[in-house]
Amino acid sequence: MIPTRRAFLRAGAFASALGFDLAPAYAQARELKISRTTETRSTCPYCSVSCGIIIHTLGDNAKNVTPQVVHVEGDPDHPINRGTLCPKGSSLQQDIVNDRRLMKPQVRRPGSDKWEDISWDTAIDEIARHVKKTRDDTFIDKDAQGRTVNRCEGIAWNGGCTDTNEFNYLVVKTMRSLGVCYLENQARV
Ligand code: SF4
Repeated sequence: MIPTRRAFLRAGAFASALGFDLAPAYAQARELKISRTTETRSTCPYCSVSCGIIIHTLGDNAKNVTPQVVHVEGDPDHPINRGTLCPKGSSLQQDIVNDRRLMKPQVRRPGSDKWEDISWDTAIDEIARHVKKTRDDTFIDKDAQGRTVNRCEGIAWNGGCTDTNEFNYLVVKTMRSLGVCYLENQARV
């Protein structure tokens, strides 16, 4: 079996072959905060480069412990970034573990200067209602030359960069069925 690049680096075979004594490094590694973490592979959510990342979570397998992300690093086995991350990607842990991170839907009502929390059910109902009304108001069945076009120019869709191909397949099917033609995503997962 061919070892992964990450496994190869961990084993330190190359370093050992050069005569380095890795024992002190391994001893110190045991004390590192990531030494007892669970590794989860994912993709940086920021730009369309699509760098592979490894998320280290502490407490995943312990009882009565809330899992906590303690470190995020580039994935050495990922063909795009080979373990490197730009400054934005390097700050991902601060994005995940952040008091200001939004964990529920919010809405700012017409005329209001405040955002208010709403439930997911309410958010879905309101989005559906707005989509229906906007489509009804802006749907165009024939263009200026009388040709049938059946398009909705009042709605646009912009997909996130961690959306999977399967998710984007459903997005395209759904949006096209509504007649939406302004459609964009960063499909790359
Ligand atoms: S680490 Fe930087 S370059 Fe890579 S996907 Fe994230 S933002 Fe883009």
